[in-house]
Formats: sequence, structure tokens, C-alpha cells
Amino acid sequence: MKKWVYRFDEVKAVDKKCGGDWDRVKGLLGGKGAGLLDMTRAGVPVPPFFTVTTEACNEYQKLGKFPQGMWQEELGALKRIEKASGKKFGDPVNPLLVSCRSGAKFSMPGMMDTVLNIGLTDTTVAGIIRSTGNPRFVYDSYRRLIEMFGTVVLGIPDEEFEGPLKAYKAKKGFALDVDLQAEDWMEIVRIYREAFRKQAGREFPQDPFKQLELATEAVFKSWNGKRAVDYRNHEGISHELGTAVNIVSMVFGNRDNDSGTGVAFTRNPATGANKMMGDYLLNAQGEDVVAGIRNPDKIENLKNHLPAAYAQFMAITARLERHYRDVQDVEFTIESGKLWMLQTRTAKRTAQAAVKIAVDMVHDGLITTDEAVDRVTPDQVDTLLHPQFDVTALKAAEHSDTYFAKGVNASPGAAVGQVYFDANKAESMAKSEKQDVIMVRPFTKPDDVHGMIAAKGVLTSEGGATSHAAVVARQFGIPCIVGAATIQIDLERRVMSAGGKSIHEGDLISLDGSTGNVFAGKIPMIEPSLKEQTDLITLLKWADEISARPGSRKAPKGWPTRGLQVWANADYPKDARRAREYGAHGIGLCRTEHMFFEPDRLPVVQEMILAESSAARSRALDVLLPFQRKDFDGLFEAMDGYPVIIRLIDPPLHEFMPSEEALLEEVLTMRLRGEGTGLAEKEHLLQTVRGMHESNPMMGLRGVRLSIAMPEIVEMQVRAIFEAAADCTLRGIVAKPEVMIPLTGTVKELEWIQPRLIRIAKAVTAEKGVNFHYKFGTMIEIPRAAVTAAEIAKLAEFFSFGTNDLTQMTYGYSRDDAERNFLLTYIQEGILEKNPFQTIDRDGVGRLMQMAILDGRRTRPELEVGICGEHGGDPDSIEWCHLIGNDYVSCSPFRVPIARLAAAQVTLKYGESKKKTAKSITSRSSKALSKPRRSRVRSSKTSGRK
Ligand code: PEP
Ligand code: MG
Repeated sequence: MKKWVYRFDEVKAVDKKCGGDWDRVKGLLGGKGAGLLDMTRAGVPVPPFFTVTTEACNEYQKLGKFPQGMWQEELGALKRIEKASGKKFGDPVNPLLVSCRSGAKFSMPGMMDTVLNIGLTDTTVAGIIRSTGNPRFVYDSYRRLIEMFGTVVLGIPDEEFEGPLKAYKAKKGFALDVDLQAEDWMEIVRIYREAFRKQAGREFPQDPFKQLELATEAVFKSWNGKRAVDYRNHEGISHELGTAVNIVSMVFGNRDNDSGTGVAFTRNPATGANKMMGDYLLNAQGEDVVAGIRNPDKIENLKNHLPAAYAQFMAITARLERHYRDVQDVEFTIESGKLWMLQTRTAKRTAQAAVKIAVDMVHDGLITTDEAVDRVTPDQVDTLLHPQFDVTALKAAEHSDTYFAKGVNASPGAAVGQVYFDANKAESMAKSEKQDVIMVRPFTKPDDVHGMIAAKGVLTSEGGATSHAAVVARQFGIPCIVGAATIQIDLERRVMSAGGKSIHEGDLISLDGSTGNVFAGKIPMIEPSLKEQTDLITLLKWADEISARPGSRKAPKGWPTRGLQVWANADYPKDARRAREYGAHGIGLCRTEHMFFEPDRLPVVQEMILAESSAARSRALDVLLPFQRKDFDGLFEAMDGYPVIIRLIDPPLHEFMPSEEALLEEVLTMRLRGEGTGLAEKEHLLQTVRGMHESNPMMGLRGVRLSIAMPEIVEMQVRAIFEAAADCTLRGIVAKPEVMIPLTGTVKELEWIQPRLIRIAKAVTAEKGVNFHYKFGTMIEIPRAAVTAAEIAKLAEFFSFGTNDLTQMTYGYSRDDAERNFLLTYIQEGILEKNPFQTIDRDGVGRLMQMAILDGRRTRPELEVGICGEHGGDPDSIEWCHLIGNDYVSCSPFRVPIARLAAAQVTLKYGESKKKTAKSITSRSSKALSKPRRSRVRSSKTSGRK
């Protein structure tokens, strides 16, 4: 029979069930349960507990009731806890109390439910008062149970409890919870029970077993609660995993003034600084710290209050970090001077912290460079390259009238948006009105998560750096300021004020999450510079080293065996310089037509299009040639030594002409006004533009078809490319031009055009008397080209997948209209899993690519293969390109760092090193925490520290 419950003393049984695989232990017991078990076996003080497995949760979701035998196992495990603690559940003299906590495989902070103090009833309350002599603490605990049980298990709104408590405090003139005495809490218990009866239509249950049963069920149910589902959707966590339920014997941070509770991170999760960061509260229970309702004290001050417990805490947490070789997020409680650890888990962190911590841990010898590269996500790199405030404008704002308030800098980054004071409004304004929003609340609760996800930034007036808002915002990479205590928020009037200034709902504000400063209005932003991000540069250098390892891809002879290279799409020399600075090793696409749109060139381009004879067209092209030569010269110079793929003109010519509607309007106006001068030319122009009209221009006269219809344009372009490359070569620059023919559908097209172009290339190199390496190749963006790749590769020396067009033509979806019309509905309805214009559809478009590479390389084994559609910067598509044998991916310069990391991660995932990583996890799990494993780390010399 299946075992549904594992106790704190069943390490062996868990190891056996999971084959010693730590990942499976976490899958079965959740991160929290696994961490508690690991700490217990290492002798860290953890209160006795047991864990109901995620398998039980999944079974519950299927059956709608506890699986057979589960509850009996819970009762059996409870007996073992009773034995270990010397207390008895429901006993009137010496009662055991427990907490019931959720805990999935991947931490979902605050997204699911927890109930503390289970086991308190009128009978047990009397017993604990007798044994502790502390009625204040007991009634405080009892009212917490009633509130948590009411809200979590029965869904009673918080306000039904919080409201009367606030009113009571106001009536008595109490500012803080600690001001309330035993008789006050006793009275609150009475008020809460009345509220409970009114709301639930029944008495608060006096049977402790019933309390436990219902709380367990509530935690199971919370797996499918809205906030948990939203969170998993956002984080890409599977809905199939289920949550475990941890039943832990209670220890009390609210027992007396030698008691307290806190949460801490072994390093700063906002900046990555190697210094413990945490908060604690004396005489309080856990949720007080996380909820941000009382402003807590800094962890370092604990040494003044409870020095022995503090010293023990610091020693344990240092050990935990060394053992798990990652920053830990811990929860602890001190009961009458004795320290208990309640949780350890891998800490969520900001993008900045993720990079710094990964690099520092390599330098400290804790992890390998491979692990460091694997620990940072491409999204985090993206965040680091997001716009920041313009430094001069920011400095000016700090000393201006727009300065509004200061809070705790909980999550760095710049955010500008319109203020909304609740999560629903923030979400709806962001989604339906497409506004940038900043969510402002006194403090956030798990129910606010959807608003946070939708927001550009979060601001709270209460709470500390470990409050809910701070933890969640950091994880989502949203700039966040908490505890801006000077701000008064009037939720009814929808306005906040500080220092005599007011900001209304809908007004713009700017948040500097790095300093905690809040400003009224909008501060201008600038693009960030990679140069200043030295840790990121180090990490990306390691990433490149991983991708460059030979032999990491098993492949047929002649195919690439290293990981992917990253190139960039760049049209101008300035873009190419940025691409190179961001680490691109080539230009995968220069869309030459963009150069035609420059204001000084467009009239010449139009003249060329309107030319009625080949001679007139050539005259216009002669004017354009030096412009193009200069553009290409700049590109080769910027990419000195790297290949530069230049695509010949692709769009239909009407794109360079004024629109038919605009011309018609002009002609009609001129006729109406009787303006004769210029009318005939305008009418002629209108006729020509009308003549160029096509019903489906995307499938019309463009790409190679245009080159065949009007070869003079591409002949000019090829001449410009080779003259520029020759000039650069003469100046000592290593130019490697690759000429790319777009939109090929049949090899016959290449047979028609390519030899003419090669003749020009040869003529120019002969004229200039230089030699350099060059290639002629084609884009694969029409399904027929992919299917006939073996033929096409006879001429093409390289393929570059134009997956924008290839997706459009494979699905038959217009790349310009699909999103607007139906694509998003398709995704919502599950007809499409993802937007195929963002992530390669592996089953369709991907298969065509795979087939094209196989067939192409059969004809030409050394065929160079890349991708230059938008997918080139998407991590999932990068993985596909790695698997099918691309040489490189090419994406926008801004995405180059993301692609470098993604390329390295996929090399690790499928390469030889993958096996090593898997082994290290396994071996770690079977070692006790007390004997930390010596990590297999390369010396700092080889790991990149110079
Ligand atoms: C493509 O089709 O993927 C491509 C890169 O070309 P363009 O987007 O210019 O059509
Ligand atoms: Mg295209």
C-alpha cells in the first residue's frame, strides 16, 4: 500500500522511496518538508514534525477526499510527535499544539495556506495557562487560531477579524498589539468567536482532531486557489505537482520577552551582498514578520537581546548555506531563549543578486562555473538590461519638488507608472487599458499577487525587506519599495500623501527600487550599459566558454560539435558596435532596405523605382551605391574578424512609396483647389503606385523575385558590399561578407541570380586586387525551400532560417494581423500552446528546419546554418536550434547576452557536463548536512578569476 505520510525520523524510508535523489525527495515532501528532514538528520534543532506527501494531495484532487489510509497515518504520526515532545494532542493538562503548513516542490511564498496553533480549544487553553502561567500569550495564540482557521479553512474575509481588532484597539487607545494584555486578548477571543459564528454559521470547532483534519484539507485545496494558480502560470510551474502538508509541533515566539521569531536570508537577496539580511520581532508569531503588519527589527540587533540564540543562529545558517551551496531563506523561532529552525529553502533573489551571488560563490569555491551559469535565468539577464533612470535626471529629481518619500529599497530597478491602490484595478488597467501601473498598498498579501504581476513597480507604506511585497517583487524582478512610513494612504479617497504633497489614483509616479526613493511624475529612462555590469560580464564569459567546448554536441561528421554561437541582427554600424560590445560573434542579418529609408536616400530610391528605363534606373542606383558602400564599410569595420551576413533587398517596392490613400487625397485636393503645378506628376505617381498594388504583398513581388524582376538593384548592392569589403581589407580590417538571398522557393531562382552576383564579386576583387573570404547563401523562409533543401544547398553555402516568414507561411497566419485577430484567443483556448511567432513551433516549423538541415548538409556537409527570425533570442527556440544542429543563432543586439546564457545552458543540459551535475545532486542528498560535501570546484584560475 502507498505510504502517504513521512515522519521526521523516517529519513531512511524517504531515501529508499526516492532512491537517494534529492530532487525526488523535494517532489515527494515539498521543499519545506525536505528541508526540515535534512535539517533534522543533521542535528539542527527542528521541532518534531511529519509531512503528508504531494502524492496524497494529488490523490485528494482526484477523489475529492483524503486517500484511503492517509488520515490514519496522520494520526499515527501525531502519536510519534506526542512521544518526542512529551505532550499530548487535545490533552487538558499538557496539550500539544501543531502548525499545518503548505510546501510544494518549488517554493511559492505565501501563495498557499498555513494554520498555526492547531489544538487550542477552551479545554486546552486552560491547561496551557496553568502550565505557562502566561494567559496573555495563550489568548493571543487562541485568537490567531480562530482568525487563521476562519479565513483559511472557511474563507471568511480577513476584515471580519481585523476590523473588530482595530476598533477595539482604537477604543482602548492601544497603538500596537504588544499593548494588549491578557484580558484584552480574552475579550478579542470572545469577539472573534462571535464573528466566526456569524460568518460560518457554526461554532469554532472544539475538537482538535477536527481542526487538524480541516486544516489539512484546506492546504490541499489551496493548491488550486486563484493566487496559487496565477503564480504557477506566471512562473511556469506545473499544476500537476501538488503540495505537501507539514504538521509541525508548535514552538512559540510569542511566549514571553525571551521569545521571538524571524526570517532571514544568508546573503542580501536584493543586491547579492555577502551579508546576512533579516528581520525579527520579539514576542511575536511568524506571520507578524512576513505579513509586514508590525515593523520588525534588523536581525543584527538580535545579538543585543538574545546573544546565545543569535550566535547559534549565525552558526547554523552559515552551515546551511555551505551545505546547500546556495543562499538560504530561513525561518526561525526562539521560545524562552531556545532556538528552533522552522524552514530553510533556496532564497528567491533579484536578477542583480542572482548574478552577483553566482559569481561570488564561484570565487568562494562553493560552486563551479557551470553551476553559476545554470543558476541565472535568461529572464534575469533581460531584467538587468532593462532601462534605468537617467542619472542626471534622477539626481535633479532628488533635489526637486517631485521628491515624494523614501522607503526600504526592497527590489532594485526603475519603474514609472500610474498609481492604483488595489490589485484588481492595477491588473485591469494594465491589461485592458495597456497602462504602465504602479500598485500602491499599505502592505500586500498573497491575494494581491495578480496585481503585482501586472505592475511595473510596487510601493507599500508598511513592512520590511522580508515582507510579502518585498519577497514576491524580488522574485518577479519588479522594482519595489516597502515601508515608506511617511506615506499616508487613504484607500477610500484613493489618494496618498507625504510631506504635504498628494498623489491621486491614476497619477504618474517613479520608483527607484535601488535607493528606495519615490517621486511624483515621470523620470526619463536610458538604456543600461553592459560595460558597468562586471559580474554579468564574468558570468557571460563563462557561458561563452561552455558553449565553445568542443565535443559537447554529438553530431555527424562536418557538423558543429560545440554549442551555439550567438550573432546579432544589425542594420547600422552603431548597432553592430553594440552587438559586439554585448558579445555577438557575427552579424546574422543586416536588412539592407532599412538603409533605403534614410531621408536623404528615399527620394533617390523612389526615383529608381519610378524609372522607366534600365538606364534611368542605373543612374539612380549610381547615386545610391556610395551610400550603401559606406554603410557596409562601417559594418565590416565594427565586426572586424567576424562574419557579416548582408541580406539583399527583400520588401515589396511599394513600401518605399507614399501610400495610395495619401496620394489620392493630395491629387483630389489639388484638383479641387485648381492647383495645376505639379498635378500631372502627382497623378502619374498615383498611377504608378496603383500599378504596384498587390492583394497579398507579403506573398508578392519581394525577395529574390524582385531581384529577378529588377536585377540592377541587387547588382548595385553586391558591388557596394564587395567594394566596401575590399577597401576594408586594404585598410587591414578582416572583412568576411556573406551575401544572403531572401525568400528563395526554388533552386532555379538561385541558379538565375547567384552566378550574376558572383561575377560582380569576382570583378570587384579583381579590380581592387584583393582577396578575402566570402560566401553566398540563402534564407530558408518558405516551406518549399526547406523541403527542397538538398537542391538549394547545391548553390547556397549557408542557410539562415527566416522563422518570421517561415512561421507565417507554414501556419498560413499573417505575421502582421494574426495576433490582433485570433492568435491570442487561440492561446487562451489552448489551441496553440505558445505564440509561434515568439517561440518556434517544434512540431511544424521546427520539423521543417530540422529536415532542411539534414538534407542541406547531405549535399554540403560544411553548410553553415543559422537563424535570424525573432526566435533567435528566445531561450526555448535557442534550445531547438541547438538540438537540430544550427551553428549560430542571431538576434537583436539587446538580446545577445540572454542568448549567450541560454546557449550555454542548453549546452550544459544536453552535453557531457549534464551528467556530472545530476550526479552532484544525488551525492549531496545522501550526505548528512553535518558533513558538508567538498564541492568539485575548479581553482579560481580556471574558473575565471584573474
Ligand atoms: C524572417 O522572415 O524571419 C526574417 C528575418 O526576415 P524579415 O523579418 O525581414 O521578413
Ligand atoms: Mg523574411
